[in-house]
Amino acid sequence: CGVFAVLAGEQPVANLAYFGLYALQHRGQESAGIAVFNEGKVRLHKDMGLVSQVFDQDVLARMPGDLAIGHNRYSTTGSSRVCNAQPVVLMTRLGAFALAHNGNLVNARELRELVDDGQAEFTSTTDSELIAFAVQQAVDRGLDWSDAIEAALKLCRGAFSLAIGTPDGLFAVRDGHGIRPLVFGTLGDPATGHWVVSSETCGLEIIGARYVDDVQPGELVRFELGSAEPQRRRWSEEPNRLCVFEMIYFARPDSQFFGESLYSYRQRIGRTLARESCVEADLVIGVPDSGIPAAIGFSQESGIPYGDGLIKNRYVGRTFIQPTQAMREAGIRVKLNPLPDVLAGKRLIVIDDSIVRGTTSRKLVVALRDAGATEVHMRISSPPVTHPCFYGIDTDTQDQLIAAQMTLEQIKDHLKVDSLAYLSKEGMLEAAKAESGHFCSACFDGQYPIPMDQTLLSSKLM
Ligand code: 5GP
Ligand code: SF4
Ligand code: MG
Repeated sequence: CGVFAVLAGEQPVANLAYFGLYALQHRGQESAGIAVFNEGKVRLHKDMGLVSQVFDQDVLARMPGDLAIGHNRYSTTGSSRVCNAQPVVLMTRLGAFALAHNGNLVNARELRELVDDGQAEFTSTTDSELIAFAVQQAVDRGLDWSDAIEAALKLCRGAFSLAIGTPDGLFAVRDGHGIRPLVFGTLGDPATGHWVVSSETCGLEIIGARYVDDVQPGELVRFELGSAEPQRRRWSEEPNRLCVFEMIYFARPDSQFFGESLYSYRQRIGRTLARESCVEADLVIGVPDSGIPAAIGFSQESGIPYGDGLIKNRYVGRTFIQPTQAMREAGIRVKLNPLPDVLAGKRLIVIDDSIVRGTTSRKLVVALRDAGATEVHMRISSPPVTHPCFYGIDTDTQDQLIAAQMTLEQIKDHLKVDSLAYLSKEGMLEAAKAESGHFCSACFDGQYPIPMDQTLLSSKLM
C-alpha cells in the first residue's frame, strides 16, 4: 500500500495528497482514499480504483482543510471491496482521527479479540481497522493522542507504517523492525512548519517537498502545524529489517533509500549478476520496467550491448497486483510486446528482477523465440523466491512459488530457456548501502524476523 499525508495551512491539502498518491500508485491499485481535517471536522472520500479514477477536481474542491491523510490500497489481508479502502476514520472523546496503514499484522486474530469490547463496530475485514480501534479505545480510556497511539502500537505485531491524522497534529509511525518504508519532509520554507509524510521519497518530490529523514524503525513522530521541529520518540527497540523486496522490485526506481536512488542499486545488482553468471551472447535486454536498471548494469559489466527488446504498455497495472490468477494471466498477455527487428537472430540475455510464479517468464520466452531469438538466457536480479511474505507483499502461498516447487534445473526446463541463473543472496545484500543484516529477506531464505502464530504460518506454507 501507499501512505501519504500533508499538514499545511492555506494550501489545497487534498490536491497535494492527490499528487502524492499519484506518485505512489505503484504501491497499490485497488482503492484510493483521502481524509481531510477542517476545523475539527473530517471529510473522507474513498473508492475502488486508481487515484485518477477515484478523485476529480470537483471532489477535491469540496475537501478544504489543513491536514490530509491519503492511502492507496493493495490487498494482502481482507477482500477487495470498498469497505476495506482506507483511510479508516473513527470518532473518539477527543474528536475524529484518520489512519492509513501499509503493511500487515501477524497477530490480527489476537488483536481482534483484544479490541472486541462488544461496542466496536467492525466495518471491514482488514487488520488496519483493528489498529484504529486500538487507538480509539486507548483515547477513550483517557490517554492523550501520543500515549494512546503508543499504547495501541504495543498491541500490534507485524509490519506497519502508519500516518494518523488527529485534531492534535499528524503522527507517523513505523514498526520496530521498519519493514515498510516511510519518510517525511518539509513543504515550502521549513520555518513555516508544513509537513509531508510519504511511503517513498518520490511522493515528496512530486509536490516539491524536501526530504528530511526516514521515520526510523520503532519511531513515533508527531508533527504540529507551524512547528519547525517534529517531536520524535522511540516506542520500540528492535533490529532493523527493511523489506529487501522494496529495494529489488516494489518501490519506485527514483525513490531514495540509503542516500541513493533504487535505480542505482538495481543497476549495481545487475553488475553483480554479470560477475556471477555471465554467458556468451549478442544482446542484453531487460523485462520492462522492473528489469531494465539491472539489465543496463549487466550490460555495462559484461560489455555485451544493451537493447530494448520488449515494449510495455504503460497503462496496464502491475500484473501481480491483480487479485486472482485468472486475472493475472489475462493481464500478462496485453502487457509486453517483443520487437522482432531487434531480436531476430540474436542470442539473448534476458534480465528480470524476480521470478515469483513463473507465469510472466514462461510466456515471455515463447514470445522472444517467436520474434526470432536464437538463444534465451534468463538472469534474475534476486535470489529464488521460496517463501511467502506475511508482512504486506502478496507473494502468494508457498505452493504458488515456482522456486519452492522446483529445482533450478526444473525451472529452466519449465521456462524453456537455454540457461537460467539467479543473483546470490550475498550479492543482493552486499550491493545495498546499508550495514549487513539490515534487511528482511525472508521470502528468499525463510528467516522471518517476526514470529507468527501457527495458523497464520500454515495458511501460506505447504
Ligand atoms: P512471475 O514469475 O510471478 O510470473 O512474474 C515475475 C515478474 O512479474 C517480475 O517481472 C516481477 O517484476 C513481476 N511480479 C509478478 N508477480 C510478482 C509478485 O508477486 N511479486 C513481485 N515482487 N513481483 C512480481
Ligand atoms: Fe519483504 Fe520478502 Fe520480508 Fe516480505 S518476506 S517483508 S517481501 S523481504
Ligand atoms: Mg517485472
